[in-house]
Amino acid sequence: MISVEEALGIVLSNLPERRVEIVLFQSALGRVLAEDLAATSDIPPFCRSALDGYAVVAADVEKAPVELELVGEIRAGGGMPGRLFPGQAMSIMTGAPVPAGADAVQMIEQSQLSEDGRKVRILTPVRPRENIAARGSESEKGKVVLKSGHRIGPAEIAVLATFGHSRIKVWKNPAVAVFATGDELVEYDQTPRPDQIRNSNAYCLSSQLQLMGLKAEYLGIAQDNKEDLRRKMLLGLEQDVLIITGGVSMGEYDFVQEVFRDLGLEILFSKVAIKPGKPTVFARKGEKLVFGLPGNPISALVTFECFVRPALGRLCGMSRPELFRMKGELLADMKQSPGRMAFFPAWVFWDEKGWKVDPLAWKSSADIIGFTGANGVFIFPKNRDFLSRGETVDLMLLPDFFQRQR
Ligand code: AMP
Ligand code: MG
Repeated sequence: MISVEEALGIVLSNLPERRVEIVLFQSALGRVLAEDLAATSDIPPFCRSALDGYAVVAADVEKAPVELELVGEIRAGGGMPGRLFPGQAMSIMTGAPVPAGADAVQMIEQSQLSEDGRKVRILTPVRPRENIAARGSESEKGKVVLKSGHRIGPAEIAVLATFGHSRIKVWKNPAVAVFATGDELVEYDQTPRPDQIRNSNAYCLSSQLQLMGLKAEYLGIAQDNKEDLRRKMLLGLEQDVLIITGGVSMGEYDFVQEVFRDLGLEILFSKVAIKPGKPTVFARKGEKLVFGLPGNPISALVTFECFVRPALGRLCGMSRPELFRMKGELLADMKQSPGRMAFFPAWVFWDEKGWKVDPLAWKSSADIIGFTGANGVFIFPKNRDFLSRGETVDLMLLPDFFQRQR
């Protein structure tokens, strides 16, 4: 049986070429740039006042308090001001252009206006260039401000707006299809027979995809027979990546792998030393990737994060889409049977002295209810059968870690 690392290596060495597309910058949040973008102007485009105050010649106010002749007012957006000469001051607002001749701005709090409004007393000195952002000091025209491979967040959206980059080249999101398998499954809006359960995995996986900014085409539930599986797989293979849950283990009615072979898919692995999730299958047909995840709800959830996320994230242009990993202190003794790398749900929190890992009460890889309070998973190394309270463990933060509350 291959290790988690080997399995991930196989997935990553089988990724197809990425493609690009052009999108409007307002809808580019979470996308990854596929081009370098340069400043289309100097920023700031003029020498800009950083606060409300008076534009002055620094040498004039070296021996402040001093009185200067007030010769004008400069508003943000009120046109370019005329020249300022020694002995003069102009009142200036935040974001307005500093007049030629002035080399500093003193804040309004350090000034006193004369009764007739013609003079201003500057109470303390200012250094040359103080409170002025020089033209081009944030970026000069032509300089690359966002590099290809950069993921777009709110600040990047602001930079795109700043330079008028309204249509940008990003990596194209892969098209993904999902279906569930199992004669025991019915949909959420149906009443299960006594021997049935509602399909939860398809919705769990769809929301995991949604957290990656991806929307899957949902193909429904395939019955445990080859014809139905084949029909749904052919539909799924029209997309770039197909994710199936259930039907991949050793049961009499687990036909997924057989149908993979019938359809000419190359099975690249079909068992991984991971717990939960041992029967995970990865296959490809040409450029198309197919993941057969186990049916147990936590197995499906965990194997998605371990194998599917890294693949899809890279297709979306990310260089490191894996869940964020770190270390924390385990707050309870833990046991497991060794042989597979195990992932356990936990509540991870910061308590001044460091990151703490509070394992959740959790019954099995079927226990999705027990998993609901988790914001992370910690790793039980494959050669260990016991971890003691106080030990440092490796952990991964779940993708919505920062949104979780308890
Ligand atoms: P399988 O991998 O098909 O052998 O399924 C393993 C277990 O997961 C069985 O108890 C199934 O009933 C359950 N299961 C399979 N698919 C789903 C699903 N889509 N939603 C919830 N439970 C499932
Ligand atoms: Mg099944």
